[in-house]
Amino acid sequence: MIAELICVGTELLMGQILNTNAHFIAKELAPSGIDMYHQVVVGDNPKRLAEAVRTALSRADVVLLSGGLGPTDDDLTKETVAEALGKELVLFENEWNGIVSYFESRGRTVAPNNKKQAMFPKDAIILPNPNGTAPGCIMEAEGKAAILMPGPPRELRPMFLNHVLPYLLEKSGHRLYSREVRIFGMGESDVTYRLDELIKHQSNPTIAPYAKTGEVTLRVTARCRDDAEGEALVAPVIAQIRATIGDVVYDTNGRELAEVCHHALIDAGKTLAVAESCTGGRLADAFINYPGSSAYFVEGDVTYSNDAKMRRLGVRKETLDTVGAVSEECAREMAEGCRKAAGTDFALSTTGYAGPDGGEPDKPVGTVFVALAGRDGTVVKRLNLFGDRDRIRHTATLNALDLLRRNICTK
Ligand code: AMP
Ligand code: MG
Repeated sequence: MIAELICVGTELLMGQILNTNAHFIAKELAPSGIDMYHQVVVGDNPKRLAEAVRTALSRADVVLLSGGLGPTDDDLTKETVAEALGKELVLFENEWNGIVSYFESRGRTVAPNNKKQAMFPKDAIILPNPNGTAPGCIMEAEGKAAILMPGPPRELRPMFLNHVLPYLLEKSGHRLYSREVRIFGMGESDVTYRLDELIKHQSNPTIAPYAKTGEVTLRVTARCRDDAEGEALVAPVIAQIRATIGDVVYDTNGRELAEVCHHALIDAGKTLAVAESCTGGRLADAFINYPGSSAYFVEGDVTYSNDAKMRRLGVRKETLDTVGAVSEECAREMAEGCRKAAGTDFALSTTGYAGPDGGEPDKPVGTVFVALAGRDGTVVKRLNLFGDRDRIRHTATLNALDLLRRNICTK
């Protein structure tokens, strides 16, 4: 099956916005086995849009369109495509009522020109849009289909994933099976560099990287007839990923780092307490976020001042006076003191400079120490993190979780 994408909007041609919808749709379509040979960008001009639609219909089975479903006069994708397919637009009461209540629920009144957004050919398949006013639609004619989606990415993306992709897969007789490999401790460029050969030469399954602050996810997606066939295609590729990049892979079923720690503690029957300085409660929150954490989570201390570190955790005054609160020694004493006070199997601690001010010549902003105290002793890790205060606090939290994960999941 061949698909063609037409992105509508003069702002795209003028360089006012980046065509992220094309990137998103192409990336999501790649594993499906549906071929895309052309992508077209056309302005808000009915004549040129009609021409683009006719050309696309002549060489593709399905034409995907983004943009131009708004209420204003320059939004004419639906009118133009319907005309090209010889269809007339009629008002859909249901969709009109939906638009009215969308406005009312936001305390706004609906304008008469919004009616245009509820007009479709009478045999159209409506694609709901819970994130905006304009529903999308599918117009079918002579075995071909035009699929119209709104321009704003936050409306288009869920519509594409929830409605358009399933329609396309059904039509092409395929289904998709995917698993997510979660990675911490290696940047996206390093991951893709090391897996370059594998990523390049895979067509079924495909491997798509997604980066989020401090973490990388690889989505491995197979085109298959059923889950069993999908798993048989995906499993050896995941094994190869693991063999290539090793223990930075912390999960292969899309779980969060904290979730992996949560289950590891429950499975091991071990208890945990945390003593936090620069992460200020985020570490405790990461665990308590999951129901059932009371099975192992005993307490969390936010000991931000030197005084609290001494009083609550027994950090030595001498340590604070000589090497300071941001030090390997302090992190160690925090974790050990916390473990002793809470009577747990493990205790984690964090201490560091989250910035933007502060730091020392040999310990600039971003210097963070994380420690894990356990029955077999204490491990401390020095980190050199970068970014703003929020990013440093976030990645410090992830590093503390990873320290626990590495010590509990392997024992
Ligand atoms: P439209 O539905 O054409 O009126 O588009 C509404 C808004 O969606 C535009 O102002 C852009 O912010 C966004 N948008 C439209 N097309 C795209 C695209 N191809 N990629 C990213 N954003 C888009
Ligand atoms: Mg537009």
